Amino acid sequence: MITVEAARKIILAEIQTMGREKCLLSQSLGRTLAEEIVSPLNHPPWDTSAMDGYAVRKADIGEASPSAPRKLKVIEKIPAGRLPEKKLGRGEVAKIMTGAPLPEGADAIVRVEDTSQEGEEVSIFVVPDDGDFIRYKGEAIRLGDSILKKGIQIRPAEIAMMASVGKSVVSVFQQPRVAILSTGDELADLDEERGPEKILNSNGYGLAAQVSDAGGVPINLGIARDTHADLIEKLKEGLRADMILASGGVSMGDYDFVIEVLKELGAEMKFWKVSMKPGRPLAFGVISRRPVFGLPGNPVSSMVSFEQFVRPAILLASGRNETTRPTMKAVLKEEIRKRPGRRLFLRAVVSSLGDEISVCLAGDQDSAVLMSLVKANAFIILPAEGDLVKSGEQVTVQLLSDIHMVDSEG
Ligand code: AMP
Ligand code: MG
Repeated sequence: MITVEAARKIILAEIQTMGREKCLLSQSLGRTLAEEIVSPLNHPPWDTSAMDGYAVRKADIGEASPSAPRKLKVIEKIPAGRLPEKKLGRGEVAKIMTGAPLPEGADAIVRVEDTSQEGEEVSIFVVPDDGDFIRYKGEAIRLGDSILKKGIQIRPAEIAMMASVGKSVVSVFQQPRVAILSTGDELADLDEERGPEKILNSNGYGLAAQVSDAGGVPINLGIARDTHADLIEKLKEGLRADMILASGGVSMGDYDFVIEVLKELGAEMKFWKVSMKPGRPLAFGVISRRPVFGLPGNPVSSMVSFEQFVRPAILLASGRNETTRPTMKAVLKEEIRKRPGRRLFLRAVVSSLGDEISVCLAGDQDSAVLMSLVKANAFIILPAEGDLVKSGEQVTVQLLSDIHMVDSEG
């Protein structure tokens, strides 16, 4: 049995980065950026006003106050989207809107609420500081600046940023295609007629969703019976994908043939069994440079193994800089008794109580019980050593989704 770290290292060493492709900016949400973005322009392109108000020459304002306003001449009105036509001379101001270019000679903006205009004369009630409410050319983005790094996930903010520098087509990494085979004589697919001896194939669907969530493209190979012939036929189909996942059939049972069949198909198996709970029976190998995972059959084990090993592999193949979910510390709100030996991944609920991040178990930890995974937003990760963790101790948690805001009753 190898450790989680050793297993992850072996897996990631076998991952090839996907090629690149072009993608419309408007369709790039969630994809991984395959190029560094360097700004071809300054933003703002000129000095501009950050407020609706008056562009002034500070020297003209003197000691203006509400009781002794300074009266100045309005020579122009500059809306956003038009360049100024006049230069400010002594005693002159221009009315200016947010985002409009500053007229020559102006060195501060006075907000409209600190003024009062009658005809062509405006009364200024305050003394602006030098540069008040001016956004200077290139202040937000300077021409030639590196604004986005290769290997990041494209979020709405990155899309807005790229749009702001005119990038309408971006280079992204291709999405790995991941074939998913569910194995087991007891499995029936959804909406299929089934006998009383059957259970529904949940892994196929859960894994496909995890693949999509990680940025891969799932290819459903359906269900294989626990026979050599069926396993070989279905796994062969997986060879057109970039990665293969099989679930079930990798334990010690009389019908667990997946590893044998993978070897028959030419797989070089790298390890079988990881020192963790759930998820011990994990087989990993490579068939003609394609990573192939034999995931445990129990529904929770399969999803936990995916999280810890397959997700990082998909992210790395997708060109991502960061491949593991971050961990953090939380205060444990109950006592946990455990058997020493394997690292534990416990389904848990992390909550934010005031300024404390706390965590408690999400229910039954049996690896066939999906309900506690549904309730969980995190894993508590406990070391292999030790048999007791006391309430009030700090434990390591790995967040899977948002922290709950109130408490952990649900
Ligand atoms: P196995 O490792 O094949 O012995 O499977 C372990 C347990 O997981 C058994 O109870 C299986 O019935 C169950 N199982 C295996 N594959 C699936 C699947 N695709 N969906 C739901 N349960 C499964
Ligand atoms: Mg089975």
